[in-house]
Amino acid sequence: MSFNLQTYQPHANLLQGQIILVTGAGDGIGRQAALSYASHGATLILLGRTRSKLEAVYDQIQALGGATPAIVVLDLLRADNGDYRGLALSLRQQFGRLDGLLLNAGLLGSLSPIEHVDMSEFHQVMQVNVTASLQLLQNLLPLLRQSAAASVILTSSSVGKRGRAYWGSYALSKFATEGLMQVLADELANTTIRVNCLNPGATRTRMRAQAYPGEDPQTLKTPAQLMPLYLYLMGADSLHVHGQSLDAQPRVSAPA
Ligand code: NDP
Repeated sequence: MSFNLQTYQPHANLLQGQIILVTGAGDGIGRQAALSYASHGATLILLGRTRSKLEAVYDQIQALGGATPAIVVLDLLRADNGDYRGLALSLRQQFGRLDGLLLNAGLLGSLSPIEHVDMSEFHQVMQVNVTASLQLLQNLLPLLRQSAAASVILTSSSVGKRGRAYWGSYALSKFATEGLMQVLADELANTTIRVNCLNPGATRTRMRAQAYPGEDPQTLKTPAQLMPLYLYLMGADSLHVHGQSLDAQPRVSAPA
């Protein structure tokens, strides 16, 4: 089925029985994706750094009648390979496989000219936006291989596809994200795992407000309005989509 943002109607049971891990699941787009995936039948693994936010999402999933989620409190800035190995082991014991992985957690950092990029902040942005995704993938690929058809979604940005002045560390991290997706997609050609990038575009979240403090949030799409593409890429309607970089708001010009 080809995807048309205006007309796509995900089946109510699109993700029935699927085991899906979402990073940054406590807030913003990740929170909404977790709720949407759960309401379409998936069992969620909610990963984030703030327990109270993850527990609130857990409660909302329970309230809407979704499958009981798992919570993983992990600060991607500080996690080491032992943490990732431990996560993979516990998911193997609890679920035996992983059908979906939405790598969504992200750090904006400061906007500044390249000449003034703060190197310690650069390393933090790269750690959360790139290195953590690489380490999660390294440890979770064996579980994704256990799925009949797994979907990995990495979160990109318009400044990860075309450079823009002053977007410094964040833009570099999103270019690296696109590169990670392309390399991995090439490696996983003709397997049961598909890998794609998704650029949400300008969206009403805390990160967007941080980047554009003077902007009226009411002019922006809400995370809920992006969900058709998030559902499409996670569910079986996108089985043939692999190695692509998709935009949830292809005609929006304001960067994020
Ligand atoms: P938010 O700031 O609203 O949410 C980011 C999420 O990432 C939060 O749940 C946050 O956790 C989590 N996170 C941040 N740092 C860490 C960490 N060290 N360890 C674990 N979790 C962490 O941002 P958005 O929802 O707007 O962004 C989601 C993704 O979409 C990001 O990758 C972003 O780059 C991308 N994007 C967003 C756009 C937009 O306009 N909003 C446009 C283009 C791309 P906590 O809440 O606990 O801080």
